[in-house]
Amino acid sequence: MRLVLVGPPGAGKGTQAQFLAAHYSIPHIATGDIFRSNLKAGTSLGLEAKSFMDRGELVPDSVTNEMVKTRLLQDDLGNGFLLDGFPRNVLQAEVLRANLAEKLTPLTAVLELSIDNDEIITRLSSRRTCKECGLPTVNKEKCPNCGGDVYQREDDKVEVISRRLEVYQEQTAPIISFYRNEGLLITVSASGNVEEITMRAISALNRVS
Ligand code: AMP
Repeated sequence: MRLVLVGPPGAGKGTQAQFLAAHYSIPHIATGDIFRSNLKAGTSLGLEAKSFMDRGELVPDSVTNEMVKTRLLQDDLGNGFLLDGFPRNVLQAEVLRANLAEKLTPLTAVLELSIDNDEIITRLSSRRTCKECGLPTVNKEKCPNCGGDVYQREDDKVEVISRRLEVYQEQTAPIISFYRNEGLLITVSASGNVEEITMRAISALNRVS
């Protein structure tokens, strides 16, 4: 299963990605997580990404495409992969399609998580992220997954959320039609509890894989 997960910030991509990656036994490749771990480790990639991330802007395509290309060359992708947060614009989608075509491993499907704008702001501004395992939570003190301390991502602060939503509408939403035209798009509602959404996603994906 070679899968891309798309949807606005706050649709629950990170959470669903964890469950879907475990269900299909495929690596979860989240570009935002890769940038954040580089930032934590103080690498030049992390420092380059920081100013864009803090403002809710996209990191330049040249940097992001190269990073994903390198990740897709690793040897743990025998069962496929789940890309979360990439592609974020049509150029990235085209570069991904070309990279995968070279290896004769086209995408199996693109899963869109759809959600109302009102719900997004509420979800994101109350979201915390674990400093240890990186999972999102609504718990304000400790991570329910590993017990680590939690923090509020700079880009989950209200000022930055609205810019991230604009960036999504302007730059990322066009990839939905791109993938619809490719015949790869599957849309499921991201409302409801986490388990319901996962079941919805798995039953939709099982029809195409
Ligand atoms: P996320 O964790 O997916 O919400 O990503 C956090 C931030 O990382 C985004 O707001 C961007 O600044 C950056 N980022 C993540 N994925 C990409 C991408 N595919 N292209 C450009 N920037 C990205």
